[in-house]
Amino acid sequence: MPFLELKNVDYSYPSGDSDYIQALSDVSLNVEKGEFVALVGCNGSGKSTLARICNGLILPDRGDVLVDGLSTSDKRNLYEIRKKIGVVFQNPDNQMVTTIVEDDIAFGPENLGLPPSEIRERVDWALDCVGMKEYAKSGPLRLSGGQKQRVAIAGVLAIKPELMVLDEATGMLDPDGRREVLDVVTKLNRDENMAVIMITHFMEEAALADRIIIMNGGRKVADGGKELFAAPEVFTDAGLDLPIPVRVAGKLKARGMDVGCPLDIDGFVAAVAAKLGKEAGDA
Ligand code: ADP
Ligand code: MG
Repeated sequence: MPFLELKNVDYSYPSGDSDYIQALSDVSLNVEKGEFVALVGCNGSGKSTLARICNGLILPDRGDVLVDGLSTSDKRNLYEIRKKIGVVFQNPDNQMVTTIVEDDIAFGPENLGLPPSEIRERVDWALDCVGMKEYAKSGPLRLSGGQKQRVAIAGVLAIKPELMVLDEATGMLDPDGRREVLDVVTKLNRDENMAVIMITHFMEEAALADRIIIMNGGRKVADGGKELFAAPEVFTDAGLDLPIPVRVAGKLKARGMDVGCPLDIDGFVAAVAAKLGKEAGDA
């Protein structure tokens, strides 16, 4: 049984008196325990709607959303489901509910009604996971954007979800802040086996994932591993950019040099060097 399963999900928002906006159309997808999935698509393609539908913040008009076998459409399941899936949103300034970092992280476990000793343990563990221990007593004003997002991630972690959805959580951060958040998320996936759905429009981030799901106009238009980049029309047709190494490799291929489909700069350089070395050896 997949950990998260969406089956033929439709969702529409009311708009005006009798009109509506179809935000998701017939979306089916699975996410297994421990997987790292990137969800990409241009503005308005339905990504945030998908994030909200996963943990039952909104319910599908048609189809089913199952979390560990529990349907979000049954209200009695929502408490369990929200322990299993945590969501981190885009704006780091809207996510702190208290004025002290450790109180903020304790908020989730307190709402679960856990005993104080366990809350303390979870807060310390979560702070440690995101590298923010020395900021436990700080207020948000002293924190950078990247640090605030790491606190937001710790707040979700303290609930010990099995899947974390990050909805453009790096979108408002500078490159250093983005790197901090990505490092934390990849570490949690690797060391804690936490499944991740990372919603992003940075293709370099998407290339970090085991699997990539592409949304376009409320539909899922592709779902696969890194090999998707080898046929990059699925990205460009959905209005997305490609990682720079993939773009350059495409131009080289058009000029007669096939270096495959390297996703990062190091891989690109290694592929070019191997090619040049081989040709020099052949000559
Ligand atoms: P994305 O996150 O990919 O930008 P969204 O899921 O936010 O896409 O939006 C999908 C579609 O639903 C868009 O057409 C958007 O305008 C519409 N939409 C999103 N949220 C609302 C809302 N609260 N009310 C009405 N329409 C909405
Ligand atoms: Mg969005």
